[in-house]
Amino acid sequence: MDSTRAWRQFLQTVTSSGITHVPSVQLPKPVTVKPTQTKKSSSHAAGPRAGKTVLRSPIELERDQAKEPVKQDATAEILNGPADTPQQKADLLCQLSEVVAGCQRCTELAGTRTQTVFGVGSADAQIMFVGEAPGADEDRVGEPFVGRAGQLLDRIIEACQLRREDLYICNILRCRPPGNRNPLPQEAANCREYLDAQIQLVKPEYIVCWGTVAAQNLLGEKRTIGRLRGIFHRHQTAKVLCTYHPSYLLRNPSAKKDVWDDMKILMKDLGIEPS
Ligand code: SF4
Repeated sequence: MDSTRAWRQFLQTVTSSGITHVPSVQLPKPVTVKPTQTKKSSSHAAGPRAGKTVLRSPIELERDQAKEPVKQDATAEILNGPADTPQQKADLLCQLSEVVAGCQRCTELAGTRTQTVFGVGSADAQIMFVGEAPGADEDRVGEPFVGRAGQLLDRIIEACQLRREDLYICNILRCRPPGNRNPLPQEAANCREYLDAQIQLVKPEYIVCWGTVAAQNLLGEKRTIGRLRGIFHRHQTAKVLCTYHPSYLLRNPSAKKDVWDDMKILMKDLGIEPS
């Protein structure tokens, strides 16, 4: 506030409080300061609020964040790297996992996760397993398919005469939905870029989708897992087999037979004799 206005305000306060006689005061003449000539190029920055700290409310900040464009180029840049050898693929997957670790696209999931659960296994795997989303155990450990469902999956892998370390395992989502709810369509869409990049880098011959969420999202299907299972589908160059999620088998042990039938389809195509 300039000194002239300050004096006027002071005098108004005094007179409004009942004081009728005040000594005459010589108000200082306002001084006009000529603006300093600035370079033409800086004129854009010198708006009415330039140089001032603008405080933004939490609501405004949230609105700004929502408007912030999603950074697409980090994944594209990684995919441009050489991916001819297993080591190169592993290096690029590692770089991608670092991008994912900082991902904030799904505001709720990014705010509640302990950590992102990117994926594990061989970067050169012939078979990729895709699940739904991390649960509480996965969120805590940082790996997909741990806990009781993971232990059951390990037994299925062993029965198929496969080794977990030879597979690549990931999910539709890389962050845990609170309360283990199903992924929202927008969340699956947000995370799809990372799944596609993992598939592009690993280049599996086979993909096994565990559960309805994985199958429907990967294949862009609306049919239930009961209708999708039992035959090979196709995603790009990979043969895709869909079957029940191990968590479902824990609740419905009678469905284990169907999963075993599906695994036999996979083994037959791989040339493995069921024991
Ligand atoms: S679920 Fe995927 S897209 Fe959403 S915040 Fe996590 S990493 Fe990002």
